[in-house]
Amino acid sequence: MEFQTIIEPFRIKTVEPIRQLNREERIEALRNAHYNLFRVKAEDILIDLLTDSGTGAMSSEQWAGVMRADESYAGARSFYRFRDAVRKITGFKHVLPTHQGRAAEHILFGAAVSAGQIVPNNTHFDTTRANIEAQSAEARDLPIAEALHPEVEHPFKGNLDVAALADTLESEGGNVPMVFVTVTNNSGGGQPVSMANIRAVSELCRHHGIPLFLDACRFAENSWFIKQREEGYGDKTPLEIAKEMFSYADGCTMSAKKDGLTNIGGFLALNDDDLAHDCRDQLILTEGFPTYGGLAGHDLEAVALGLFEALDEAYLRYRVRSVAYFGDKLMAAGIPIVRPPGGHAIYIDAKAMLPHIPPLEFPAWALSVVLYAEGGVRSVEIGSVMFGHQPDGSEKPAPMELVRLAFPRRVYTQSHVDYLCEVVAHVNDLRSRIRGLVIVEAPPTLRHFTAKLKPLGGALLAS
Ligand SMILES: *Cc1c(COP(=O)(O)O)cnc(C)c1O
Repeated sequence: MEFQTIIEPFRIKTVEPIRQLNREERIEALRNAHYNLFRVKAEDILIDLLTDSGTGAMSSEQWAGVMRADESYAGARSFYRFRDAVRKITGFKHVLPTHQGRAAEHILFGAAVSAGQIVPNNTHFDTTRANIEAQSAEARDLPIAEALHPEVEHPFKGNLDVAALADTLESEGGNVPMVFVTVTNNSGGGQPVSMANIRAVSELCRHHGIPLFLDACRFAENSWFIKQREEGYGDKTPLEIAKEMFSYADGCTMSAKKDGLTNIGGFLALNDDDLAHDCRDQLILTEGFPTYGGLAGHDLEAVALGLFEALDEAYLRYRVRSVAYFGDKLMAAGIPIVRPPGGHAIYIDAKAMLPHIPPLEFPAWALSVVLYAEGGVRSVEIGSVMFGHQPDGSEKPAPMELVRLAFPRRVYTQSHVDYLCEVVAHVNDLRSRIRGLVIVEAPPTLRHFTAKLKPLGGALLAS
């Protein structure tokens, strides 16, 4: 008998209480936070879906590893466990621990990318883009066309547009120091990349003699999607699939705060001896000695264990299924979301839900704020507050107005998700009363973190 209910494949040993404020208290908290959820205290949030980065729960084995760890400055036992774990999964020769993903990016691009060069990717994550632009180089996004249409279904909507890459390498080959593929495609909705796509990109890169790197933050979730959706992979283990993915690349950057199942950590791994040498010099300058990088021994130990726990089939089935369960319920309730559900988050299409709010009155921001006011849920706007401000000071609507609800790993249960569905459905019923907002004060860059806003007409909801 195969039972249909997919349960959380763990039991709970430590609990952290969460606190339910009433609606008035939440409205007050919002007012004090100038209608910016980044400014709300975490203890005033009931369900926090701001990010899946570094917010997961570690296992009893990881906590045991924390105690077993070796905190020696040089040559610690924990480093060798970490290195061997990364090597076993990725097959890359050199492993450089960093405090998180962006440090690995900064070191790699500092060593290998120079001004005026172009780094293609399916879609650059914002820190990847920022670290390339910091070298005065261009971060070029080449997603497949389907990626830009929330309502269009595609099993591998994270794929890189191979024809567009071929054109880029044909015309600019000498000016491309490396190609990136981000698995899963975070900025594109947590959508997976197929093995066939990675293989095709790899062949093209090898043909032009250009190294391929994976932005591997969600390598385990991507492996699971390949197992579920791609012909020929159903009988392979997630580890076998991950190994094959990495075999097509020359290196990777990784944030262990995602599929490393830890609260901090990351690494750069690569095969090229000379490049590794340069990167290691930089690592010592900005992160630490090469056998600990930016991490404590206990972090290295927790990552070494977490990378394999993230590849556990029962965990991945629960992980991807719980996000899809939420997405399916929202779709059944007629709520517009990016389809199909991605691996780590659900994205509500606020442009479709709130057509009465123009983009520069920030419909996705308004929706995220009302989700908190009504249900104590924290999400994040990916729209015109985040992307609308142009370098010349003007405002331009972002391509999409999305609200992302990202799931911390192993933290929330199905009843939390059922509650979320009720909150979103309730807010959807109120949608015609939701008002836009105006920015009162904001810094010129990365303004969404600190901007102060206020609702147009003085209240979040029209009466
Ligand atoms: C989180 C993330 C990064 C950056 O990692 P940090 O640990 O936050 O510095 C890079 N790329 C992708 C796809 C990510 O999701």
